[in-house]
Amino acid sequence: MSYLRLFFVLVVLGHTSWVHAQSNRMTELLGCAHKALLPAPDGDRTRDLRTEDEYDYDVEHYQIDVRLSYSQGSISGTVTMDCHSNVEGLESIIVHLRDNMVVNEITMNDVTLDYNHADHEIEIFFDEPLAENEAFSVAIRYRGNPSSPGEDYGMEFTTSRYGDPVIWTQDEPEGSRYWMPCHDVPDDKATVEYRIRIPDNWLVATNGRLIEIIDEADATSTHVWRTDYRTSTYLMAITASEFITFSDWYHYSETDSMEIKYYIYPEQQAAAEEDFSVTDDIIHALASAFQVEYPFLDEKYGMVVYPWGGAMENQTMTSYGQWLVRGDHRYDWINAHELGHQWWGDLVGPMDWREIWLNEGFASYSEALWAEYLEGEEGLRDWVRDFHETYIYGHSPAHAIYDPPPGHLFCAAQYDKGGSVLHMLRWVVGDEAFFDIFPLYAEQNAYESATTEEFKAACEEVTGQDLDWFFDEWIYNYDYPQYTFAWGAESVGDQYRVELQVGQIQPEETVFEMPLEVEITLITGDVHTAVIDVDEAFETAYVYVDAQPVDAELDPNGWVLCTIQDVLLDVGPDDGEISVPQQVTLYQNVPNPFNPKTQIRFFIPETAHTTLQIYSITGQLVKTVYDEELLGGKTYAYTWHGDDEQGNTVSSGTYFYRLTSGDRSETRTMVLLK
Ligand SMILES: [Zn+2]
Ligand SMILES: [Zn+2]
Repeated sequence: MSYLRLFFVLVVLGHTSWVHAQSNRMTELLGCAHKALLPAPDGDRTRDLRTEDEYDYDVEHYQIDVRLSYSQGSISGTVTMDCHSNVEGLESIIVHLRDNMVVNEITMNDVTLDYNHADHEIEIFFDEPLAENEAFSVAIRYRGNPSSPGEDYGMEFTTSRYGDPVIWTQDEPEGSRYWMPCHDVPDDKATVEYRIRIPDNWLVATNGRLIEIIDEADATSTHVWRTDYRTSTYLMAITASEFITFSDWYHYSETDSMEIKYYIYPEQQAAAEEDFSVTDDIIHALASAFQVEYPFLDEKYGMVVYPWGGAMENQTMTSYGQWLVRGDHRYDWINAHELGHQWWGDLVGPMDWREIWLNEGFASYSEALWAEYLEGEEGLRDWVRDFHETYIYGHSPAHAIYDPPPGHLFCAAQYDKGGSVLHMLRWVVGDEAFFDIFPLYAEQNAYESATTEEFKAACEEVTGQDLDWFFDEWIYNYDYPQYTFAWGAESVGDQYRVELQVGQIQPEETVFEMPLEVEITLITGDVHTAVIDVDEAFETAYVYVDAQPVDAELDPNGWVLCTIQDVLLDVGPDDGEISVPQQVTLYQNVPNPFNPKTQIRFFIPETAHTTLQIYSITGQLVKTVYDEELLGGKTYAYTWHGDDEQGNTVSSGTYFYRLTSGDRSETRTMVLLK
C-alpha cells in the first residue's frame, strides 16, 4: 500500500506576495485619471469601424492651414488632402468632420465641388469619376467652435493649472474630426504640414519638425511644422500656449544624436527638468529591449504639457498631463508608457479599434520593461503583479481583449491584461525568442498598421511554434484561470515523489492550457524548480526530488494572470507535521460558496466500496457521484456543476455531500449561490 506524506495546512486566497512594497500602480492609475479609468465614451465608438465607402481612397498628405483664436474659441482655415483613388470610377468620397463645424467651400483644382455635410461626415462629389490609383487633391475651407466639453475629444480652449491660456487637442480614437476635416481611420496614415497661426507670444507643439515661424501683421505668427513620417489622424495633435522650451539629446550612436524637446509652462521648469531627465534613458532602455531603434530619429521626440488628466502618445510629440510633472519622478512610468507607444501605436498602428491592445498592452509592457531596466527581475515581476491585481480586482465585466465592447476601448483588459499577455508570451516562448519577435513585427509593419493575426504570425515565424492556442485563450476568449493547488509527497527508494494537483475553478467552461512553474523547497534548503503542463480542469503531475520536500509553490514568479488557491492535499492528525494518512478523508469543497461549479475531493487509504452522494438540506438524494469499488491510497476529485441525476440545475441553497468508504463515513456541507 502506498501512502502520502503530509505537510502543510495553510489555506491562502490568492498570492500573499501581491502585497509588495513598490508604489502601487493601481493607485497611480486612479490618482492621475489615466485614460484607462476615464468615463466611458458615449455611443458605440468601438464598433465605429469604417464603412466600405471609406476604403475607396487613401490620403497621402494633409496640409493643415488654420488660424486659432483663443478669445473666440475658434479654428478657421483650409485643410488640403492629397489622396488617391483605390477604385475605378470613384464618384464621391467620405471625409469626417463634426456637424458643429461649418464647411465654407470645397474645391479640386480651384473648381468648386458639391458636398453634403451631415451625420459628422462630408460626402464630396466629383464632377468626373476618378480612375483607380488616380491622384487627386481636395481643399476644404472650414471654420467653427470645436470645443466639446465633457466628451474627452477634440480641441479645447482652456487654461493651465497656472491660469495660462492653452489650446489643445485630444484625438484618440476619433477626436481629430472634431477640429479638422480628415479621413479619420487609424490605418490611413499620411504626412502632414501644419501652418498654424496664433498670437506671436505663443508656441505650437506638434508632430514632426518645426520648419519656420513666420511673423504676420497683426501680432500673430504662423508656425510651420512638417512630418516626413506618415501619421494616423488620431496621432495628429496641436497644443499651443505661452510655452517655454528646453532640450535634451538622445545619443543613438557615438557620433549622432536626436533632439528631445519639451514644451512646458514656465512655472514648472525645475520640476520638468528633473522628471524629464530620464527620458533619454527610457528611449535607450526600450530601443535596446525591443531591438528596434527609436522610429522617428529624423524628426525628434517631444513632450508638451496640457490640461488633460492623462497622457497621449501623439507621434513624436507626447501630450503629457500638467499634473504629472512634479519633480519627483513619480510618473516616470507614464513617460515610459507613452514612449513605448512611439513603437507600438505610432510606428506600428492598429488596423482598427478592435486591435487596441496592440497599442495599450504593448505600452503597458513598456512600463514593465522600464521597471526591469531599473530594478531587474524583481522590478519586472512586481510590475506584472500589479497588472494582475488591477485586472483581476479592478475590471468587469469579463470580455475578450480583442474587439472590446462599448466603453471598454481603454479598460484594464487592454492595458493590464494586455501587458500580462505579453509577459505570458515571454514565459511560453522564452526570453530570446520573445525579444526577437519585436524586430520582426516592426519590420513587417513599420509605418503601417497591423492586426493581432499579423502579430501572431510574427510570433510563430520567430518561434516555429503554432500559437493559436495561446492567442485563442488569452486574446480571443475572455477570463483567466482560477487555479487550486495542492501537493503531497511520499518516499520512493532514496527519492521523494511529489504529487502536484492543479484544479481550475473559474466560473466559465474554458479550460486554460498553460505551462506552470512549480518551486519545491527541500528540507536541505535547496529549491527544485519544475514546469508542468496544465491543460485539464484537474491535472495531477509528479516530480521526483532528492530530499524531503517542505514546501511547494505554484507559479512562484507570477508569470501567469491567474488566482491560486492553495488547498489541502491531505491533513494528518499532527497539525501539519509529517504523518501517515490512515483514514478516509473528505475535504471541504472548493470554492465554497460556489456558482456554477465546485470541486469535491476525498482520500481513501484502502481499496473499498465507496459512495459519494449529494443531498438537499431536507435530506433528499440529489445525485450519486460514486457507487463502486475504488482503489485505495488515492485522492479523488469530482467537479459538481450544481445539477441533479437528470442534469437539471438545482436551486440555490445548502447541500450535504456524504462519503462512505468501507465502514467509514464523513459528511460536509456546501452552499450554491445564485
Ligand atoms: Zn497608452
Ligand atoms: Zn474592459
